[in-house]
Amino acid sequence: IIALGQPEHSVITTCAYCGVGCSFKAEMKGNTVVRMVPYKGGKANEGHSCVKGRFAWGYATHKDRITKPMIRKKITDPWQEVSWKEAVDYAAGEFKRIQAQYGRDAVGGITSSRCTNEETFLVQKLVRAGFGNNNVDTCARVCHSPTGYGLKTTLGTSAGTQDFASVDDADVIVVIGANPTDGHPVFASRMKRRLRQGARLIVVDPRRIDLVKSPHIQADYHLPLKPGTNVGMINAIAHVIVTEGLVNEDYVRERCDLGDFESWARFIADERHSPEAVEDLTGVPAADVRNAARLYATGGNAAIYYGLGVTEHSQGSTMVMGMANLAMATGNIGKPGAGVNPLRGQNNVQGSCDMGSFPHEFSGYRHVSDDATRQMFEAFWGVPLQGDPGLRIPNMLDEAMAGAFKGLYIQGEDIAQSDPDTQHVTAGLAAMECIVIQDIFLNETAKYAHVFLPGSSFLEKDGTFTNAERRINRVRKVMPPLGGLADWEVTMALSNALGFAMHYKHPSEIMDEIARLTPSFAGVSYDKLDHLGSIQWPCNDAAPNGTPMMHVDRFVRGKGKFMITEFVPTEERTGPRFPLILTTGRILSQYNVGAQTRRTENSRWHEEDVLEIHPFDAENRGVLDGDLVSLESRSGEIALRAQISERMQPGVVYTTFHHAKTGANVITTDYSDWATNCPEYKVTAVQVRRTNRP
Ligand code: SF4
Repeated sequence: IIALGQPEHSVITTCAYCGVGCSFKAEMKGNTVVRMVPYKGGKANEGHSCVKGRFAWGYATHKDRITKPMIRKKITDPWQEVSWKEAVDYAAGEFKRIQAQYGRDAVGGITSSRCTNEETFLVQKLVRAGFGNNNVDTCARVCHSPTGYGLKTTLGTSAGTQDFASVDDADVIVVIGANPTDGHPVFASRMKRRLRQGARLIVVDPRRIDLVKSPHIQADYHLPLKPGTNVGMINAIAHVIVTEGLVNEDYVRERCDLGDFESWARFIADERHSPEAVEDLTGVPAADVRNAARLYATGGNAAIYYGLGVTEHSQGSTMVMGMANLAMATGNIGKPGAGVNPLRGQNNVQGSCDMGSFPHEFSGYRHVSDDATRQMFEAFWGVPLQGDPGLRIPNMLDEAMAGAFKGLYIQGEDIAQSDPDTQHVTAGLAAMECIVIQDIFLNETAKYAHVFLPGSSFLEKDGTFTNAERRINRVRKVMPPLGGLADWEVTMALSNALGFAMHYKHPSEIMDEIARLTPSFAGVSYDKLDHLGSIQWPCNDAAPNGTPMMHVDRFVRGKGKFMITEFVPTEERTGPRFPLILTTGRILSQYNVGAQTRRTENSRWHEEDVLEIHPFDAENRGVLDGDLVSLESRSGEIALRAQISERMQPGVVYTTFHHAKTGANVITTDYSDWATNCPEYKVTAVQVRRTNRP
């Protein structure tokens, strides 16, 4: 404030980092943000914030911002600044040439969970209606796609069951594969408040995260399982509940499919799922598993909160269904203080999935093969649409290397840094003939691009984000787009140049179309959002002001569906050459690939990714704290600094993935979830060697 002067006006908008979706008052002087003040009226944060939302917005005007469209014929050519029209016409011309030469399916698009619902909806519309195929995917592919699959299969909808406020009624909180203190700080504070009031806590995580023991908080049970054994663990917990008579039979009889339940109960009662039988597999003492299971089933309202430690596995979808099985068996869905709740990493993961960014689904999670739904979209958009699912991101890359996929439009994603097995990604990108990047910075993926279309930061956007509790929040523009066009206008221009006309004058008109075509958004409008502040979908005639808690009297799918969750070990194995398991995560001050937070003062708090290693493993390798070490897997090798930490268990090492210079994904594998292709970031067999000592 001293440097910038007193604010003159303020605009209420939404943080563009994690899936908590905190509301902020941007205090402005002209077009300059003076400060971001957490907004007390924001229902997700009630006036609280973390360091990222409060301070890490300076990247919006960073000198690295690219504000002029650019093209180049070959990726070895220098970029040339051109007009918007030239860039858009060139991109459209190339996509048309590729489709004429290689076929309709040789192009596709990728949407971003950092963009608004309206922007994401337009990208998938451009692909389905403008390109004429279903080759659209989203970065949710690499984080919460198993959540979509698992919760839809068991409960009927691809979203968390509760609102954040529900944690205030939880008697037992189970945190699985998530570190809310770093990943979802404002919700973590609310959860900790409930824990300090006396709620019991079970943490299932290979690492001794802060929640296990921090001031005034002590987990009742920490189950430090070996990475890759989630499903063995959830089955063991379920085994105790079924064999010790802890099933809520009235709930199951009334709410769930009994045939499915009986099959599941027979499966899970088998002795091979007992905590004792899987003790060697999971590495967790059977007695702790038994006691934790009893606490979950009998301790009152029990709520599960989970993160990417659940989903980013070869059995991510199975594990999500395993958690839903547990919650249904104990009657812990459809009431306050209970539920199965994904903690979404990015600001609009929920929204990008809701908006139809997956190749098999229209907005509202309706399969493209459903004739009635497809015909409704065809009638509204005025073009025929394909009824077969399109390509997922890894399939696009495979097809590119096979010579069949040649053109890609990427809005707000950096797949060369964020996706697994970097060599695979870059080989696929290098094999394409036209890559169009719409972003705010020249990211790693842009090294392979032919067209660069300047994107907008959240401060330049009008639209909506949907947070982890299905809450649709308004994002309001506080300054004009630095490149001159808003992201939705860029997509619209590209679509028009391709020959599929779009004529929106404001993002509110896009939301009106979303509401018209998407039953769970039927009652949503900007007027209502301005009036109510935010709305949790489903919002329709039955719930005109939204739905904080789902599955109250019945599951969305009707009867809850128990699923068989057989444990299948990952193909990634440790051995003499790669004896340790690497798992990955985030740190509070940074965000994902760091494109934003590395361009703010936050970098000072976390200037590099480090390797956390247990003292036993460090000593065996002669590694001291601060040593530079090599981290090698079957995919590649990187160098980073060691941090000796008793938060790790022997045999498991950990790093973050915020810095391109470290490049953690150089070494991750290309194994993925069987149902959704979500990469198995959380299990990589590695070796660690000391390389020098400062
Ligand atoms: Fe809130 Fe998440 Fe933004 Fe922090 S990063 S202010 S917790 S939305």
